[in-house]
Amino acid sequence: MLEINSVSAGYGALTALENISASLADGARLGIFGHNGAGKTTLLRCIIGAHAPSAGTVRLNGEPIIPGQVPATVRRGIAFVPQGHNVFPNLSVEENLTISGLLFDRSFVTEVMRLFPVLEERRSQRAGSMSGGEQQMLALGMAMMTQPKWLLLDEPSTGLAPVIVRNVMGQLAVVNKTFGTGLIIVEQNVPATLKVVESCLILKSGRAVYQGDAATLAAKPDLWEWF
Ligand code: ATP
Repeated sequence: MLEINSVSAGYGALTALENISASLADGARLGIFGHNGAGKTTLLRCIIGAHAPSAGTVRLNGEPIIPGQVPATVRRGIAFVPQGHNVFPNLSVEENLTISGLLFDRSFVTEVMRLFPVLEERRSQRAGSMSGGEQQMLALGMAMMTQPKWLLLDEPSTGLAPVIVRNVMGQLAVVNKTFGTGLIIVEQNVPATLKVVESCLILKSGRAVYQGDAATLAAKPDLWEWF
């Protein structure tokens, strides 16, 4: 279980998040939406331990996430795919995956390639020469090499064509189903994300203005009024 308990956070005098709470059972799928500057990335950074909340705590299976100890958080089962295609461009696909699993089980490369067939097809290709969508799949595969219980994704659809966005979202659903990996997806593309997540949180100026199940939000004709 992942619990966000009354988390507030900021940067100096600026408040970026105010009193955010959420309780997620293992394998849950949460979408986090909101305009630029709403605090979405800051929330992900608090969850992974890259940013210290000014108040509140994040707990994984009852134990607090310690700010400043990101590698320890990753070892505890939370992986983070930051915005942009975070691959080593001069290494091959296989080398990128292997390096990501160095502290874990390197043989998991086979599982990841089974999950993302495009990576198997391109295993010897230099990552920097792949398309944006392929690089995003590789970034997902690299995160999966740590065999996470939770996968945090910051705007995975950025810069991708609609058909590729569908592929990426589809693969996330497969990851969730195959390994029971919980998903926390920060996105600007709300319709595409609502197809994958089961609950969502809309942030506005650091505050939660909607929190509930995805189907209810998807059915709202006035959905955009929340933003
Ligand atoms: P985006 O969609 O543009 O990535 P976001 O919803 O992820 O936005 P955050 O990046 O969490 O929002 O930013 C929340 C607020 O904190 C914004 O006002 C932003 O300018 C500010 N902020 C973010 N990072 C820093 C930083 N390193 N130093 C100072 N202020 C920051």
